[in-house]
Amino acid sequence: MGKVTGFLEYERLEEGYEPVEKRLKNYKEFVIGLKADEAKIQGARCMDCGTPFCNSGCPVNNIIPDFNDLVYRGDWQNAITVLHSTNNFPEFTGRICPAPCEAACVINVNGDAVGIKSIEHAIIDRAWEEGWVKPQPAALKTGKKVAIVGGGPAGLAAAQQLARIGHAVTVFEKNDRVGGLLRYGIPDFKMDKAHIDRRVKQMELEGVVFRTNVLVGELPKGSKVTNWAKETLSAEQLKAEFDAVLLTGGAEQSRDLPVPGRDLAGIHFAMELLPQQNKVNHGGKVKDAIRADGKHVIVIGGGDTGSDCVGTSNRHGAASVTQFEVMPQPPVEENRPLTWPYWPLKLRTSSSHDEGCVREFAVSTKEFMGENGKVTGLKTVNVEFKDGKLVEIAGTEKTYKADLVLLAMGFVNPVATVLDAFGVEKDGRGNAKAGVDAAIGYRTNVAKVFAAGDMRRGQSLVVWAIREGRQAARAVDEFLMGSSTLPR
Ligand code: SF4
Repeated sequence: MGKVTGFLEYERLEEGYEPVEKRLKNYKEFVIGLKADEAKIQGARCMDCGTPFCNSGCPVNNIIPDFNDLVYRGDWQNAITVLHSTNNFPEFTGRICPAPCEAACVINVNGDAVGIKSIEHAIIDRAWEEGWVKPQPAALKTGKKVAIVGGGPAGLAAAQQLARIGHAVTVFEKNDRVGGLLRYGIPDFKMDKAHIDRRVKQMELEGVVFRTNVLVGELPKGSKVTNWAKETLSAEQLKAEFDAVLLTGGAEQSRDLPVPGRDLAGIHFAMELLPQQNKVNHGGKVKDAIRADGKHVIVIGGGDTGSDCVGTSNRHGAASVTQFEVMPQPPVEENRPLTWPYWPLKLRTSSSHDEGCVREFAVSTKEFMGENGKVTGLKTVNVEFKDGKLVEIAGTEKTYKADLVLLAMGFVNPVATVLDAFGVEKDGRGNAKAGVDAAIGYRTNVAKVFAAGDMRRGQSLVVWAIREGRQAARAVDEFLMGSSTLPR
């Protein structure tokens, strides 16, 4: 612990944002990270707790007190070594993780948590600037071949771990670029895709082969899942060619809203809009791209994906943006003694909300209205909890004008194709059935086929995907070699 009285002397400092009017003109990142001296003071606020709840609150178990202390002492190079020891991609989590570690921070019991995420962000950005992030190719090759199906954060983390331990890893991705939801779900203004490209280069130098535009199995007819595949491979081909296969295809099946009028034009899943915009930002051409210019936009779903639709619609120049959440409005402040160290239910206002958005809570959509086949509005009713169930409140029916409706109500499960192609058993929610407690975890019912990330656990945070990718890599390594030195 660097500064014994740091938490008493210094206030928490938030990262800065570019002004709204400036950031709405483009799709660039707008968070202004902490300067070195600011990060040092924020590091000094850490109490180096005997039981650091931050560490267990973090899904990858980042060794947070240690890197806080190293930043306080100005030893940034060792800080990135500590950070990388548990997290392959801190530049992803330092930007888009909601930071459950901060909810768990002991200071958060009755004060402002240590700004762990902003310190992480500062460490990794500095490490890249200084050239400290280097490829780490394996000294010895094992001669074993591993296929990873799905190039999202779980697949990338697993690929890096497996390549560094000496296996020949090939990542198969159905889209034209790897990154999964990071690439085609998270808007560029939240995370610039250069961060993924830089990691891909590093991993190529570590021996990972990336095969993009390749679909394993077949997508169901009419699927709205982003897919720019030009080549199809069968599960049999992969099983014959590789010693192990790890499925990390995500949970891409969006939750639908099957109410009257759902088939009207102008109603889209969030994951139709967001991938298109990111592709266009990077010089791609999208036929009949969804646009919000001058439109009254309704976003249904109050989570992060909904918030990303709000930010994207405002950058298009929407006439108005309204976001519906079916749950009641949570309190602005959580009841800390009741919730700490867990993730609290409280009102979260994102940077996209600050850019212009009306938020409606406890609203359920009953029907879409339209003219000439196009959506023109919605009929809603307010809802409340009664006996543990959401019920409609009589007399609260309302109509809203809408030219564009975006459905952002989460993801129900993986698109079954890949799992079906391999004959992988599913759990009750349609995810790949593979436990993490077995001697070798992440194993499916199919010989030498493993599953991890959202495809196994259901939709979750990028930091959980990285954790699963790292742990699944160890499981695959144990399976191939009999034992593993990769971290658990
Ligand atoms: Fe530091 Fe908070 Fe972790 Fe304690 S819980 S070690 S104060 S970051």
